[in-house]
Amino acid sequence: MRGKIALEEHFAIAETLQDSAGFVPESYWNELSGRLTDIHEGRLREMDAHGIEMMILSLNAPAVQALKDTSHAVEIARRANDFLAERVAARPDRFQGFAALPMQNPEAAIEELTRCVRDLGFRGALVNGFTQIADNEELLYYDLPQYWPFWKVVEELEVPFYLHPRNPLPKHAAIYAGHEWLMGPTWAFGQETAVHALRLMGSGLFDEFPGLQIILGHMGEGLPYSMWRIDHRNAWVETTPKYPAKRKIASYFNENFYITTSGNFRTQTLIDAILEIGSDRILFSTDWPFENVDHAADWFDATSISERDRLKIGRQNALELFRLQETLRDTGSNLRAAE
Ligand code: MN
Repeated sequence: MRGKIALEEHFAIAETLQDSAGFVPESYWNELSGRLTDIHEGRLREMDAHGIEMMILSLNAPAVQALKDTSHAVEIARRANDFLAERVAARPDRFQGFAALPMQNPEAAIEELTRCVRDLGFRGALVNGFTQIADNEELLYYDLPQYWPFWKVVEELEVPFYLHPRNPLPKHAAIYAGHEWLMGPTWAFGQETAVHALRLMGSGLFDEFPGLQIILGHMGEGLPYSMWRIDHRNAWVETTPKYPAKRKIASYFNENFYITTSGNFRTQTLIDAILEIGSDRILFSTDWPFENVDHAADWFDATSISERDRLKIGRQNALELFRLQETLRDTGSNLRAAE
């Protein structure tokens, strides 16, 4: 399929590059670091070769979220966003941007998101899970009350928020002790991000701000597969839910979430996701440079779904969610959707 749009696609600046070391064996670091710091060369060739018209780019992980000093976090977020804006401006027909945000300070996050959307034309934000401030041991998840003014602004700006994984801190990862192979994309990323997403759903955040749209990668971090059970355990026992939100968890998942195919190129899993959240809320992505574009695209182009769903997931849903129709027309793109 030509004309695909992909949106979990990362780059790094010098200050955040080392955060991605350790996710591949040492012998692959040269290749991975080269992929992370390149935007207009090899990346564009991969896109051309595999029918990706546009990537919406985001900073690598955990980057800004792992900085405990708030003013440093503000500075690195600004630097990364300015760098990205410059690169996007060189090829706006092929690249758009997600903002990195200093969530250490909700006010600063509001300011940077507003700047990125209003002044730099970014399409939303991508944040790498929880954050921490200085010596405070508390992990800050974004259902906490201090973040609600931030969410109000996200809703007002009408941009999606991509909740991207990070690893749990070692001291909060006792279950993985002695089993470090489970960290990262293998398991811990998904578990960490799924719980964070469920906290948002149960908190009542989406009752207060029903227009919010959250994106999860990796085919929904396991949530589609578990959604029914979350709302229906012990169904013979009459109780009211023990969370502040007004409705069943699945109704928020179905109305306030999108999921992408990033790093989870499996037809069986995609079909389950289509049956749970629907093809209107699934978006193609690769997770470049941690995954290969050809692995994502070759699988997606051939996977056994309807051609209508392929067009929606590969392109149309992203065009609508990010309001890209004008951008692609204005820049004179001559690529056409699915053939
Ligand atoms: Mn990723």
